[in-house]
Formats: sequence, structure tokens, C-alpha cells
Amino acid sequence: MIRKRIRLTGAVQGVGFRPFIYRLARDLGLNGWVLNDASGVQIEVEGEGPAIRKFIELIPVRKPAMAHIESLEHKALRPVGYTKFEIRMSLGREERTVQVIPDIATCGECLSEMNTKGERRYRYPFTNCTNCGPRYTIIEKLPYDRPSTTMSGFTMCPDCKREYEAPEDRRFHAQPIACPVCGPRVTLTDAKGRKVAERDDALIQSAKKVGEGLILAMKGLGGFLLICDARNLATVKRLRAKKYREEKPFAVMFPTLEEIKEHCEVAPQEQELLLSPQSPIVLVKKRGKGGIAENVAPSNPFLGVMLPYAPLHHLLMDELGFPVVATSGNKTDDPIAIDNDEALQRLGGVADFFLMHDRPILRRVDDSVVRVVGGQTMMLRRARGYAPKPVPFANPDGIHVLGLGGHLKNTIGFSQGNNIFVSQHVGDLEAYEALQSFNEILASLKDLYEFSPDTVAVDLHPGYISTKVGEDMVQSGSKGAPDLQRVQHHHAHIASCMCDNGVDGPVLGVSWDGVGYGTDGVAWGSEFLVSTFNDFERLAHFLPFRLVGGEQAARRPSRSALGTLYQTFGDDILSDRLSEVPAISCFDRNELVTLRDCLKTGFNSPLVCGMGRLFDAVSSIIGVRQECSFEGQAAMELEFEAYRGTKGSRALAYEYEIRSGKPAVVDWRPIMRGIVSDHFARVKRSTISLKFHQTLANIIREIADNANMNRIVLSGGVFQNALLTSLVGKAFKGSLMKVYMHKSLPPNDGGISVGQVAIALARSR
Ligand code: ZN
Ligand code: ZN
Ligand code: FE
Repeated sequence: MIRKRIRLTGAVQGVGFRPFIYRLARDLGLNGWVLNDASGVQIEVEGEGPAIRKFIELIPVRKPAMAHIESLEHKALRPVGYTKFEIRMSLGREERTVQVIPDIATCGECLSEMNTKGERRYRYPFTNCTNCGPRYTIIEKLPYDRPSTTMSGFTMCPDCKREYEAPEDRRFHAQPIACPVCGPRVTLTDAKGRKVAERDDALIQSAKKVGEGLILAMKGLGGFLLICDARNLATVKRLRAKKYREEKPFAVMFPTLEEIKEHCEVAPQEQELLLSPQSPIVLVKKRGKGGIAENVAPSNPFLGVMLPYAPLHHLLMDELGFPVVATSGNKTDDPIAIDNDEALQRLGGVADFFLMHDRPILRRVDDSVVRVVGGQTMMLRRARGYAPKPVPFANPDGIHVLGLGGHLKNTIGFSQGNNIFVSQHVGDLEAYEALQSFNEILASLKDLYEFSPDTVAVDLHPGYISTKVGEDMVQSGSKGAPDLQRVQHHHAHIASCMCDNGVDGPVLGVSWDGVGYGTDGVAWGSEFLVSTFNDFERLAHFLPFRLVGGEQAARRPSRSALGTLYQTFGDDILSDRLSEVPAISCFDRNELVTLRDCLKTGFNSPLVCGMGRLFDAVSSIIGVRQECSFEGQAAMELEFEAYRGTKGSRALAYEYEIRSGKPAVVDWRPIMRGIVSDHFARVKRSTISLKFHQTLANIIREIADNANMNRIVLSGGVFQNALLTSLVGKAFKGSLMKVYMHKSLPPNDGGISVGQVAIALARSR
């Protein structure tokens, strides 16, 4: 007879881990107990030696599907003579390092129960079990137990209680367990909050309204979604006007996978993502078949599609039987609404009806967006289903670093144990509401993990709101106030991709985005940085050019184009010869002369070198887009342009020059000359675009060869471009150099916070 204590860390709570341990112990005839504590799961088992060995061996093999074991330690103790195996009350004393589980899409068993007449939960919109349901959006504090969730206000009925306590049951210790008798209920109200219908009738009425072309605000898992008929051009147009969202693509929720496949090409890997427990929005190629209104994703060969992921969505989509626009419940870039009253107030002018319920949402969590690039999943927006999953990072001294991220697509990161946790997508810190949401998420993470930072890491940019928040944190508390670490933006990008791939420096980091504050106070954005976690050296960058209006003009690609053309052709931009270039002909003569004067004198025209601006310039020069209605639109459409009719064509490229120096400078003026002359030679826009992409891949290869580096790390928003990323991959085929791209963190500024934390940790060693 022996006794062992076993400690497990990782994603082991909220995934049915204790019930699993209970059954395994019982099957092997072992006595003892299991409990959750703040760092994971503790077990004691007592019994015959071979049975205990078997027990330890089988834990990682038979663990629940959503569980992830980070460490398993065990030690022998003197037997005490347990007489049964039990699940004990959770402890809440130690450091909070256990991983909070993201929300999990409805499982097959729950779904079939909901669809079976006579079942207790037939058509019940809050059905869940230990394998599925809300987690992160309802957890108030750790360890994860019902009283610590927003389900605490619902008292279990005798039937639910029986299931909750029965080891054989799928709902054994399922914390959000609920049924029509004791659980949350739905209500349909009008835009003023007046009740129109409740329970099943609310669902049926909601579907009817959407079918009639009305806009429905529906309370989901991490916030309200705005829903309307995706086939109805007029309705979608109305939604765009009310949401102040001109052209940015909307995501579409389809009732079934089969229907997605009717409208879009779905590769096996994309299908797997759609059906996964994370159930994200997946960007897939449109089939060009009618049915979805053109203004859902205008002039875009891709469509963001998803499947129902919570019982309420399933029931509504079954009732509807057609695809709907499903977009975050907000106006433009505000945070998603979560409270019923908040939704009525903020979305009252947008939605016609509100499908609400009385289970509170604790955290704003948007739908995640992913794309498959060259056989690899690329995260574009990391939120529901993924947040707050961490990336591993060695932190032997257990230092607590908080990374406050950048400005756009903000996220918050922090180190806890040997992990860097990362918050859900917070959004652009432009509006007052976004800043509120940033503070709210920051407070809730600090609360959840009882986190108080030793160090706060911020962007080098003195004007970012996130930087100011960090500076305030350092100044306010006199005693025990954290240190401040300022981290260069592009270095943070590279560090985040290094974390994402578990690689150490030195690497050649290629960090391309719109703009980031450089160590010299100038805007950077086309960086080649030889990086370690500690430090970096600026090896090369692209030639800067003047942008009239500076970053304010980032949404006007024609301004970027004019800056690059002036740099290339000087006063010739006013000549007849160049007057037919679309980027020039879109201005009237007077405006053109004024802008040229600004470029000449530098008046209100700071130097920029962001790769995003260079993409804008090319997009404008060849007439793809002159004005953007959302960030990155011109660059995105330039990528799409390259897909048109270029299949199998040989990848030609433009000339360029690399001027050696410290740092070296990539002179792109030969590229611009080549593009303009191709334009005059009536070379197709798709070919020009492809050649431009290929040229950039060639440049990366040449600089990597010269630098004699064998690990290349790609990060920054520009690498959301699937064509560029795959061409870079191809450029290194057959070489000994390995190219690392992002996997579970986004290449855009959503990854910055993790990079900041990693760099601050490395510096503190
Ligand atoms: Zn389930
Ligand atoms: Zn019940
Ligand atoms: Fe960036």
C-alpha cells in the first residue's frame, strides 16, 4: 500500500478534469481525493503500487480533450488509509497560475440533446456540459467553481443538482450547468427595451424579424452580436449606415457547414477550424456564386465565415435556415456591448430588436478571426476560444511583468509562472469607450490572477495612451511601485514571434507594419533587426519618404504615392508624362502643386518608411485605391489584385538597390520607376502587384544572405498578407535558413504586448 500526491499545472480547470480523475481512480480501485487550487489540480491517491503507476501513466493519455497538461509532479507519502475517492472543495490560497479556459463551442452531445423532443433541455438555449460552454466570459475569480462565476445567482434545481453530483454524468461538476427550470432565460425586446416575447417564443419571433429584413442585437457569449439577413442588400446597407462602417467586411454566420461550402471554397484545414471547439471566423475564398449580398464584403475575394457556437446561435440559425451577417455589437471601433442596459443605450439606434438573456457576461470577448496561409493557421484577431491562453516563456525568477501593448488592435500581456498570458483583443485605443474597455480588461485580469506587476512594459511612443497608463502606474504608488520598461515597437513584434515559435535569439527579424516609434524618434516600419530578447541592432530599413499630413494621411494612399513619386521623379510629378498615373490624375492641378510644395519644403510632411505606406503607394499608383475607409484597405486590395489571373505566371520582379551602411538602406526608387513604366506599357495591374510582392521577397532573401543569419522571423501587420508570406517562404526553399511566422499570436499589433513582456523579462535576468 502506498500513497502519492500529484500536482498538475496547465489548462486543467473547467475542462472536466476532476470528474475524469475521479473515474480513473475509481476504475483502478484507488482511494484519496482531487481538488482544484489556484495553480492547477492536486490529487492524492492511495492503493497498490502497480495501480498507482498505471494511474499516473494514464492521466496524460486519457485526459479530457480540452485539457493541456503543462507539468505533472508526484511524490510518495506515508499511507493514511483513505476509504473512498472524493472531490474536495477548491483551495484558493496560492499564486494564480492555473490557466483559465477559453469559452468552448457547444459539443455534439449537448446539441443532440437540444434537438431531441422529450429531453429536459429540448430547445434550451443555455445547454452546456463539462466539455463545452462558457468559461472565460463568466469567471469572476479562481479557482473555477460555480460560486465564482456569473451563474452564482442561479440556484440549481434538484434535477440539475443530481446531474452535477453524479460521477457518471456528463455534467458532473459542470459549473455553468442549467436547465429550463433553474437556468437563464431569453427575452425579446424592442429598441426601447419593452418586452415583446420570452423563452422559445422570443427565439421564434427573433427569427421572424430577421427574416423580415430587420436588425437584431443578440446577446451571445462575450457580448452582443448584430445580426441581419446576409442576402438582403438593403438591410446590410442600413446596418452599415447605422454602424458607421462603410466598407470593412462583415463576417457571416451560416446555419451549416454544407451551406458554407455552397458559397465558399473550404480546404480541409479550414473546415477543421470551423468545426473546432474554438469555432472562430475563418477567412475563406468566395465561390463567386450569388446569394450573399455584394456589400457584405465589397470587392473582396474572401469571406469571413463561422458556424453557430453557442446553443442560442444554433437555435436561431436552425429557425432561420439562411446565412446572416454577424458582427460585433458596437458602432465603428467601440468595444462590444455586454450588458442589457448598455446594449439598449449604445445600440438602440442600430438594432430594431434585442434578444437578451439574464446570464451576466463578465468580460467583453469578440469573435476570433483566423486565416490559413501556406498550411499554417494565422491568427488575425485573437479573442473568443483562444483568450486568455498563454504562450510559454521561461521565467525562473517568477518576475511579474505587465505589457500594455501598442495603440491599435491593443491587447494586454502579463507573465505568471513560466507563461505569458495574453488578453483578448481590446481594440484601437482611439475612442473614450475603448480606453474604458482597456482599463476594465486590465482590472479584471489583475483581479482574476491577483496580479501586481514588478515591471510595466510600454511602447517607446510617448503619445500612446497605453504608454501613459503605464507611466501613471509607475508614478502613482510611491512604495513598491513597479519599474517601467520602454520597448521599441518593432523589437516587440519580433520578440512576440520568437515567443510564438519558441525560438531564442539571435534571429534576423523582419518587422514590417504601418508605423512604430523608432529609437531616434522617427517613424519606423520597414525594419530588419538582428534581435535577441534583450536587444536588437537595426541592420537595414527602406528609404524614408515624405508623407504630407503624416500619419493622419495614412488612410489616403494617394498621399503616400505622391511622396514616393516625388522622391523618385522630383518635380517631374507635375509633368505631362506622369499626369496619367492614377495616383497623380486623382488630384486637381492646384492641389498637386500645393502638395508638391509641401514635399519640397518638408512642411507638415514628416519622413515615414512604414512598409504599409509603401503598399498604399503602389496600390494608389496603379489605380487600385486612392482613399481607405478602414486601416489596411489599400494594401489588402493590392494583395487581392495579385490573385486575379496570375495563376501559374512566372514571378518576375523589379530592380532595387541596397546601399550598405549602418543601417543599410533599401532604395525602392527603381521599383517605382519599374511600376510606372509597366503602367505605361499597359502591363496588367495583377502582374504589377505580383511583381511588387515578389520583389519584397527577393529583398528579404538578399539581406538574409548578406547578414549570414539562418533564422528569419517575420512579424508586423504587413505579414497578414498571405501572398507575401508565402512568397517569402518560397524564397528560402532549399536554403539552410528557417523562416518563422506567427502561429497562435497575430502578426499585427495584437502581438505587441507579449513581445513587451518577453523583452522586459529577458532584461531583468
Ligand atoms: Zn456539451
Ligand atoms: Zn435545472
Ligand atoms: Fe506594428
